[in-house]
Amino acid sequence: MQKQLSIAVIGLGLIGGSIVKKLQNSCHSLIGVSRSRQTIDKALDQGLISRGSTDISIVKDADVVFICTPINKTVPMVFDISKTVKPETIITDAASLKGLIMDFVNTSHTPVNFIGGHPMAGTENKGLDSSFPELFEGAKWVLTPSKWVQKESINTLKQIIEELGAEWVIANPDEHDKAVALISHMPLLLSQSLFSLVENYPDQSIRELAKQLASSGFRDMTRLAATNPELAKDMLIENKTNVIKALRELVNKASHLEKQLSENEEEFSKDCAKIAEMREIMYSPEGKNVYDRDN
Ligand code: NAP
Repeated sequence: MQKQLSIAVIGLGLIGGSIVKKLQNSCHSLIGVSRSRQTIDKALDQGLISRGSTDISIVKDADVVFICTPINKTVPMVFDISKTVKPETIITDAASLKGLIMDFVNTSHTPVNFIGGHPMAGTENKGLDSSFPELFEGAKWVLTPSKWVQKESINTLKQIIEELGAEWVIANPDEHDKAVALISHMPLLLSQSLFSLVENYPDQSIRELAKQLASSGFRDMTRLAATNPELAKDMLIENKTNVIKALRELVNKASHLEKQLSENEEEFSKDCAKIAEMREIMYSPEGKNVYDRDN
């Protein structure tokens, strides 16, 4: 049976709000911290948390603290929280980048029982009102334990992640950042570029007709362009090196397909069929990624 825990969530936005909404009816007691009093009052009114404050000292007795603030607030928050809580309190986060955060924690002289986290689930929306309890259902949740971590804490956190409906994956922080550059951050830049190309297309008549005709394909390809701008900026700037490398590889791949299209239609057709087949397998029940809601 799951142990009853005092779980604090800092930052009651899309991710933090979805965590408390999912755990609302669990055996755990939930504490919320957010920047604005309005968000806290809303979470209390909706019965999502039993206690809440804009002051982080409210988390001092928590067994587990989830930091779900914007990426650039995560590192200072980890150190502020570590001064507030018990040494055995598990501190984790939800930030979409792990290398920088883990470097700070691992090179610190202060031990922190910290396990980095990144739920591979999200939407383009932000704030408590856009959060929902099913957000993590079937999603992967990356964990990057720090060098300070107390071994039993990893098992406790894994159990909570399973309660949230997600599947944990232990990863190396730098490999995580390279992988998400490839499947999340570079595609965000691609999506922004595509939308911007159409929006600013020089031939007005073609531009207007294209926007009038744009349907599900264009909507799917540009969904990421609507990502919460603060999050988008943080992900692209903080993971710049990996994003640029992934973008160059994409350009090479596109150039290769372009060359085949102009010079060898037979090879191009074979490649098209192969890509379609592999994409089908990846999201089929036999593939690994039946889940399709991610940032
Ligand atoms: P969000 O909806 O904008 O929520 C951020 C929350 O943090 C807001 O509720 C805000 O409070 C609060 N906050 C901001 N500064 C704070 C501070 N100094 N102290 C306490 N609370 C503060 O953002 P999100 O999408 O949930 O993202 C949160 C984290 O999850 C980020 O690190 C992001 O990288 C990660 N993540 C996001 C996604 C996604 O798709 N969105 C997916 C995976 C991981 P108020 O409401 O009170 O202003």
